[in-house]
Amino acid sequence: MSTHTLFRVVPTDSQAPTTPALALPLVEVDAIAKHYLLGRSLSVKSVDGVSFTIGKGEVLGLVGESGCGKSTIARVMTRQTSLTSGRIKIAGQEIAALDRQELKDLRRTVQLVFQDPFSALDPRMPIGASMEAPLAQHRIGTRDERRQKVVRMLVEVGLDETFYQRYPRQCSGGQLQRIVIGRALLLEPSFLICDEPTSALDASMRTQILNLLTDLKRSHGLTMLMISHDLRVVRHICDRIAVMYLGRIVEIADRDALFKTPRHPYTKALIAASMLDRTGLYAPEIQLRGDLPSPLNPPRGCRFHTRCAHAQAKCSQAEPEFEAVGDSHDVRCHFWRELQSERPGEQCSAHNTKSRIN
Ligand code: SF4
Repeated sequence: MSTHTLFRVVPTDSQAPTTPALALPLVEVDAIAKHYLLGRSLSVKSVDGVSFTIGKGEVLGLVGESGCGKSTIARVMTRQTSLTSGRIKIAGQEIAALDRQELKDLRRTVQLVFQDPFSALDPRMPIGASMEAPLAQHRIGTRDERRQKVVRMLVEVGLDETFYQRYPRQCSGGQLQRIVIGRALLLEPSFLICDEPTSALDASMRTQILNLLTDLKRSHGLTMLMISHDLRVVRHICDRIAVMYLGRIVEIADRDALFKTPRHPYTKALIAASMLDRTGLYAPEIQLRGDLPSPLNPPRGCRFHTRCAHAQAKCSQAEPEFEAVGDSHDVRCHFWRELQSERPGEQCSAHNTKSRIN
């Protein structure tokens, strides 16, 4: 049994993954929903009944097309926006119940790394001052100690002391993302959320940042949520992967199981698309019919049925529940058994998985 499996718990709602569990996780997300009201009667169901757990030291990947609700999950987990329903606990604390001081503490222990490092840094401030600011805000160390910490972190993320005096405009996108990651780690977070951390970077920078995150995961024992539209990104760093479609998780499994034996037709399409793409560009439309339906009016029954090549009458009438299909592997599809022989991701076996991208 893999280490992170030790932290799985039995979800409490009927829509949640059913995999058995053995110990308390660091992060518990239980049947959360986030609906945005548009006018009096319309609401966008950005996230609609999502549950998962993340064990200490585990990296969970959240993958799906743009607009499926991934980034909304990052925002509700840091209380940048409130939940419509459901519950999120981090280190045993329900985040909706935190008072002002506790929320400040949460924002120290839960750090976010976003897609665009340019907008994360003040262009008028030298890098050193930008990195020291959160330490000063949380009253950590003296001025000298903060400076030493920042210089050590610059080296740890693959830069050097000269960056302390530089301005953001004097750095490349990859260097800035290293700085943003380093700034997040200075606060020694117990949980790091990375929301598309490499999608603003070119292919070689993307590779370097993924390798850096992989190294930092090992050296700091990081617990992470890695959000990406790109399966190749989550494959290289995550222990477990959840596939999202239109506000819901449709499949969740250990990384190797997901790539070796994907069960949901949507997961299979994403894997096939990422394998077909030789250019470095991600192209799920190669395998998927039509566009992602509007979350304003999600399809009845299985939300994927309007694009699924295997849809049958039942699919438009009844929403599939999560079913355990193997150890630490759950799927939401009425016909996963019948579709077991359809494996566009078969060639992506776990044996091909590398820990680093070169
Ligand atoms: Fe396709 Fe039906 Fe399965 Fe949905 S439930 S993924 S429509 S086969």
